Amino acid sequence: MPTIFRPVKKQYKRTTETIKTNSLIHRHVYNTVSWRVLRIEKLKNSPLCECPSCKTAKIVILAHDVHHIIPISTAGDNVEKIKALGFAYDNLMSVSRDCHKKIHAELKEKIEYLNW
Ligand SMILES: [Zn+2]
Ligand SMILES: [Zn+2]
Repeated sequence: MPTIFRPVKKQYKRTTETIKTNSLIHRHVYNTVSWRVLRIEKLKNSPLCECPSCKTAKIVILAHDVHHIIPISTAGDNVEKIKALGFAYDNLMSVSRDCHKKIHAELKEKIEYLNW
C-alpha cells in the first residue's frame, strides 16, 4: 500500500465546539414548531428584504429567509441564551436568499445559514 501524504487542512480547525453549538441551535430553535411559526409570522409581517443594502438602495425584493441580527451562535452552548436569541422577534430580519448569503459571507458565519 502506498503512503499518501495528506496536507493538514487548516479550515477544519472549526472545532467540535462550533459543531456542538450548531447542533444545539438546531435542536432548540430550528427544529422546533415554534421557530416555524415565528418565521412565518415574521415573513408575513415583513415580506420584503430588510437587509441594510436593500433598505439603503430602496430595493423592493421578496424575502424568503429570516436572519438573526445577533447570530445565535454567539450564545455558545448556553441553551437558555440560544433560545432567547433564537426566538427574540426583535432579533429577526426578513431577507432574500441572496442577501442572506451575502450577510453570512460578510459575517464569516456559515453555521447559522443552514437555517429555515
Ligand atoms: Zn436585501
Ligand atoms: Zn442568517
